[in-house]
Amino acid sequence: MADRSRLCRTLLTPRQPGQRECLSHHITSVAHRNETFMSNTFDSSDQPIAIIGAGVVGTMTARSLMKRGRRVVLIDAHDGPAALCSRANAGIMAVGHADAWASPGAVGSVLRALVGREPALKVTRLADPALWSWGTAFLRNCTGKAHHRNSDRLQRLSRYSRNLLSAAEADLGLPQDTRHDGGLYLFQNQAQFDTRTASLTGDGLEVMSRERLLEIEPALRKMGDRLKGGIFSQEDSVGDCRLFTQRTVETLRGSNRLQVCFNRRVTGLHRNGNRITAVETDQGPVECGAVVLATGVETPQLTRPLGFVPQIYPVKGYSGTWQVRDPDGVPRLPFVDETELLAVATYGGKLRVTAIAEFAGMDRSLPENRKRLLDTYVRRTFGDAVYHNNATYWSGLRPTTPGGPPFLGRVRRYDNLWVNAGHGQLGWTMSLGCGELIAQAMGGEPGALRDVSEPARWLVPI
Ligand SMILES: Cc1cc2nc3c(=O)[nH]c(=O)nc-3n(C[C@H](O)[C@H](O)[C@H](O)COP(=O)(O)OP(=O)(O)OC[C@H]3O[C@@H](n4cnc5c(N)ncnc54)[C@H](O)[C@@H]3O)c2cc1C
Repeated sequence: MADRSRLCRTLLTPRQPGQRECLSHHITSVAHRNETFMSNTFDSSDQPIAIIGAGVVGTMTARSLMKRGRRVVLIDAHDGPAALCSRANAGIMAVGHADAWASPGAVGSVLRALVGREPALKVTRLADPALWSWGTAFLRNCTGKAHHRNSDRLQRLSRYSRNLLSAAEADLGLPQDTRHDGGLYLFQNQAQFDTRTASLTGDGLEVMSRERLLEIEPALRKMGDRLKGGIFSQEDSVGDCRLFTQRTVETLRGSNRLQVCFNRRVTGLHRNGNRITAVETDQGPVECGAVVLATGVETPQLTRPLGFVPQIYPVKGYSGTWQVRDPDGVPRLPFVDETELLAVATYGGKLRVTAIAEFAGMDRSLPENRKRLLDTYVRRTFGDAVYHNNATYWSGLRPTTPGGPPFLGRVRRYDNLWVNAGHGQLGWTMSLGCGELIAQAMGGEPGALRDVSEPARWLVPI
């Protein structure tokens, strides 16, 4: 248990006049609207909600809670927001790609990866026990039925979330930098293109010939005859995830309802019966009324002492970023190269290319051969439209659940401990929606979506 006197010394922003009244009114008005989450979410004290993790997911959760009048303390081990997986991802809000990785076809890909015959899928830390247990659960999700259920959850979360983006920019007073013109899924292999388009279902998707693609996106001409065709997804958006997260934190910081604690690692949670009373950090405890874990790949490590371990495995990916020399030589629409399995996007005068799903445990190293793969693709596809001498490279660990959807909801054993983690390859896409859903559930509001979380015995899922 925490030392109460030490806890009381922890400095938090003082409550504003009238705040308690607002809060109790809020609690009364939302009571009995949602049986599952009603009585045990916000406590009646003036204590803030601690959000652990200032990636895109934790930051959007902070925004949603603050919008509802809640006080938040946002804690991160790094020196600013979006320091880890939200830092240099592709930035595509990929509604058209919201498909669970676990599928009947994935079994063959995993087997080929194990013998080194899948260029975009690597297993470099096979002896990791966490990988074996995660892998077993992943394989259980590879049936057609499970794939359909999981993809449906991802699609609903993605669409809901993407549709909140413009309003969020406006609310926060941010520049309208994200673009909502759609995205492309390109094929360099005719058989793959034919198979995909034959089974194509879904609103807002249009099959496009090579000629039509070159008409709407002339910068693809350097792909030459390699380009066989593509699918246009009108619901996709694109923007710089890190910039959006940083700007959101900056804006929210202007409010007296947010306290940020950067460079502070959470080392444990203090419990009293079925409530979390404080978050222990490497610089002392922080008292709180509720906790949201938005801790990405580090979630299992933090929760193990509490008796539950979310199955979130780090799936490593790489990105390279190039300054654009000729804006006409790079595409305006983001695209996923479905044959070589790379994602490409441009924003802020940069071209970003991401690739590879690698099972390497928590290793974040950047091997030369991975950088070379990105370099070769960019030289081949965009030539001199970018500057090649000052590219920057990055690796990130996608927090990935076996089924695909994130863990979203309240931890069954605790009345005030919530989880919003495990967004895999779609964390930027789903972040705004997941933040809203958690805030709705914590406040006992009717949820905008139901049955979207990855299920688990320890979780009361949304
Ligand atoms: C190569 C690549 C390309 C991608 N492309 C896309 C894309 O185009 N579109 C898309 O939607 N998604 C994409 N993603 C996925 C997306 O980046 C992630 O899903 C998303 O960033 C996860 O966000 P998060 O906030 O959950 O995790 P993170 O951004 O990793 O944030 C978690 C935070 O928790 C903090 N933390 C953890 N434990 C503690 C602790 N004990 N104490 C204090 N702080 C703690 C960490 O410091 C970290 O800042 C891509 C990912 C990769 C790797």
